[in-house]
Amino acid sequence: MVSARQLRKGLPPQRGKDGALRKALLKWFAEARRPLPWRERYDPYQVWISEIMLQQTQVETVLPYFARWMAAFPDVAAVAGAPQEELLKAWEGLGYYSRARNLGRAARRIVTDHGGVLPASPEVLRSLPGIGPYTAGAIASIGFNISTPAVDGNVSRVLGRLFALPDPVNTPRGQARVWEIAARLVPVRNARAFNEGLMELGALVCRARAPACNACPLANHCAAYARGTPEAFPRKQPRARRRGLRGVLLLLGRGKRVLLRKRPGEGLWGGLWEIPWLERRRGEGCAAALARLLDGLELPLCAPPRKLGVVDHGLTHIQMHLDCYRAEIKEEHSSARASTPSGQPLRWAAPGTLRKLPLARLSHKAIALGWEPAHQRTDPGGGAPRRTDPGGGPAPRPVGKRGKMV
Ligand code: SF4
Repeated sequence: MVSARQLRKGLPPQRGKDGALRKALLKWFAEARRPLPWRERYDPYQVWISEIMLQQTQVETVLPYFARWMAAFPDVAAVAGAPQEELLKAWEGLGYYSRARNLGRAARRIVTDHGGVLPASPEVLRSLPGIGPYTAGAIASIGFNISTPAVDGNVSRVLGRLFALPDPVNTPRGQARVWEIAARLVPVRNARAFNEGLMELGALVCRARAPACNACPLANHCAAYARGTPEAFPRKQPRARRRGLRGVLLLLGRGKRVLLRKRPGEGLWGGLWEIPWLERRRGEGCAAALARLLDGLELPLCAPPRKLGVVDHGLTHIQMHLDCYRAEIKEEHSSARASTPSGQPLRWAAPGTLRKLPLARLSHKAIALGWEPAHQRTDPGGGAPRRTDPGGGPAPRPVGKRGKMV
C-alpha cells in the first residue's frame, strides 16, 4: 500500500513495491488479454499498422479495417508501392487521414533507408513520418519486446490513478511525470506483456468512467483507490471548447454524376475527394454562401438549388453544421472546369466511381441525405437551362425534419 506521506505528496510507491505491481499486472494480463489479430504473431509490421489505426479509435472499429488492410497490403513493400488514393480509400471512415498518408511516406523510407525492414530501435522509429514517442515505444516493445515505455491515453489514466499524480496528465509537466514512471516500471524482460497489460487494464478495467476497482488486479497498489476517489484522477486541464462552424454544401448533379472536389494534400481530409462546401462568413446567409460556392465554376444550373436537409459533423476541434442543397446542370454541358480557381481538382463521379474514390465522411453523410442521379428521380427539377444566382433567385425551400428531403 502507499504510505500516508506518499499520498499527501502525490509520490509514487517505493521502488521495492514496483516488482509486486508488475507481477500482479503480468499475471492478470496473461489471463485477461483479448485475442486480437495483431497479437497472433506479434509481427512488427502488423503491430505498426494496428498502433497507427488504434490512435483515437476503438478496437472494435479498427478490427475490420485491419483485416482489409492486411489483405490489400500484406507487408511494408505493398504499402510503399501503393498509390496514395488506394491507401486513403482503405482508410476511408477511420478519420485523421494524415495517418494513412504518413504510412505511405514511412513505408517508402523503410524500403529506401532500411532495406524494407521495420527498424526495432525506438529512436530510429521516431525518425519515420507519423511515428511519435508513443508509437515508437509501442512498436519497439510490442513488436520487438524491447524494454522501453509506451504511454498512450489509457496508460496515462492508469498511472495517473495508481500514483494519484497531482499534475494534469495532459500538460507537458504531467506527461513528463507519467513517462518517467512508465520508464521506471517497464521490466527488462517481458516489456511487451507489461506495456500491453497497462493498455489493456485501461481499456477493460480502469476505464475513464466507472473504473471497475473491485475487479482490478492493482487495487492494492492504487493511490486513487486508497483515497476513495479514483474518478478524480487523472487530473486533466480542461480542453478548449469545439469551435462551431456553419456552412453550406452543394450536391451538384450532371446526369448520373455528382461534382467532387479534391482536398489539398495536407490538413483536414488531405488528399480525399469531397462534395463542395464552404464555411459561411459572419452574417452571411445560406443563399449568399451558395452563390459564393458556385462563383467561378461557371456552370449553368437548370433550376435554383433545393434544400435537402442538414448535416452535423463533429471533429476533434470543430462542430460542423452544414445546410445541404442540391442542383443540376444540363447533362450535355461539357465545359465543366477541371479545377477550382484556387487549383483544387474537380471531377464528375458516377455512383460506381464514388464507391472507389476515397471520400470524406462528411460527403457520405450529405449523399445519404438524398442524392441520386437525376434520371432516377421522378421530379427532374427541370426548366429552361439558365444560370441561377441563388442570392437573387427564389428563397430556398423550407427544411422539414432533419435529414429529410422537402
Ligand atoms: S484500483 Fe481502480 S482506479 Fe486504481 S488502477 Fe485499478 S481500476 Fe484504476
